[in-house]
Amino acid sequence: MSTDLQTIHAALSRLLERRHPDSLSTVLGAGSDDLAAGCRYLERLVEGGWMVPTWPARFGGRDADADEAARIDAALGDYETADLYPYGVGLNLVGPVLLDQGSVDQQDRWLRAIADGSEIWCQMFSEPDAGSDLANAGMRAERDGDEWVLNGSKVWTSRGAYAHWGMCLARTDVSVAKHRGLTMFAVDMRDPGVEVRPLEQINGDRHFTEVFVTDVRVPDTDRIGDLGAGWGITVETLAHERVTIGGRAFGGGDSEDVGLPSWLEEWRASGWLGDPVARQAAMRAFVLYRVNQMTVARVAASADGSAPGPEGSAAKLRSVAAFKERAYLGKALAGAAGMLSETAGHLEFLTAPSMSIRGGTDEVQRNIVGERMLGLLGEPRVDKDVPFSDLRKSR
Ligand SMILES: Cc1cc2nc3c(=O)[nH]c(=O)nc-3n(C[C@H](O)[C@H](O)[C@H](O)COP(=O)(O)OP(=O)(O)OC[C@H]3O[C@@H](n4cnc5c(N)ncnc54)[C@H](O)[C@@H]3O)c2cc1C
Repeated sequence: MSTDLQTIHAALSRLLERRHPDSLSTVLGAGSDDLAAGCRYLERLVEGGWMVPTWPARFGGRDADADEAARIDAALGDYETADLYPYGVGLNLVGPVLLDQGSVDQQDRWLRAIADGSEIWCQMFSEPDAGSDLANAGMRAERDGDEWVLNGSKVWTSRGAYAHWGMCLARTDVSVAKHRGLTMFAVDMRDPGVEVRPLEQINGDRHFTEVFVTDVRVPDTDRIGDLGAGWGITVETLAHERVTIGGRAFGGGDSEDVGLPSWLEEWRASGWLGDPVARQAAMRAFVLYRVNQMTVARVAASADGSAPGPEGSAAKLRSVAAFKERAYLGKALAGAAGMLSETAGHLEFLTAPSMSIRGGTDEVQRNIVGERMLGLLGEPRVDKDVPFSDLRKSR
């Protein structure tokens, strides 16, 4: 039976503190990486299945339907939260993909550990030669008996510094067209053949990495999905990522929340909105914020339990536009004081440019919306049917 809001609140209030009005409803994670706090939070929520309500109870969920999950998600926003960023790939990307494509053994081994925060995952897709053109990934996986031997490098791997597992896209067949020769694997990041080098970001994030993989042996039982099915799994994973970036974790969320967001209250309290030009700009930021909330709610309402489609790209575009507008305007309104790093919103200001790149760039999202939602002409794809081994490469 679907749990009502009152029961949800009664249960959550026994586990979590009510959110202080000044606390963030979500923590972006940038710069903090408080792994222990996030893990404690997940441990508290896992027994009732509150964090991943739609997952089966045996994996740390509560077999909830979409309506119940939406009520729980909204209710969680009323309680103090922790930095869940380190756990985001596992909870929002790998978990749903394993439920859809993983073997029974993989689901048993990995899902509960994702839900209770004991194992962290990272996403090893991008490479120096494969970003927007991800199907160009060149990491090799060669079969040797019951194992695969992986060699190559990945880059822009968020959470690589502390992840236990990497969901890794690799090429298993160079003789077929690039989209068809890819397979997905789970790589144990603790393997001695995995070298993780940090890449510090402008916002202070130090979990960002490049990863070098040398002769890493992966058992065939850690192959996720069918041989050659890696591209489909990649697209499915990215759709989950885009819906996530569009959602509450990044400031989107409940369409019924018609009150002023805390950042706008702060701008008003600071006296900045007395100026008509500033007020007009602030209203533009507020409209983008509300449009984002409504887009997220529309995407959630259209969810039928299957993997999200191109609507995730539309949600991500809205979310990024709202985030950047708010971050840049907040900095501008603060004037000279905004140059001080401790000014409110400074972290968001430094994080904002990356929002248009992570999870696929704005340009790529617009291509997806244009082609798959609006039915516009596709881009010319001259290498679509050329075997990967015949493609021109930069190295
Ligand atoms: C903060 C952050 C976190 C990230 N985390 C991860 C992660 O955890 N795992 C992971 O695998 N990757 C991660 N990435 C990588 C990210 O997915 C890529 O950076 C992104 O897909 C763009 O690829 P690229 O950097 O190679 O740029 P390119 O693909 O080289 O693009 C360069 C420019 O060309 C434009 N462009 C390219 N192709 C087209 C086209 N067809 N039409 C129009 N314009 C085009 C792009 O929009 C961009 O402006 C992260 C990136 C950032 C910034």
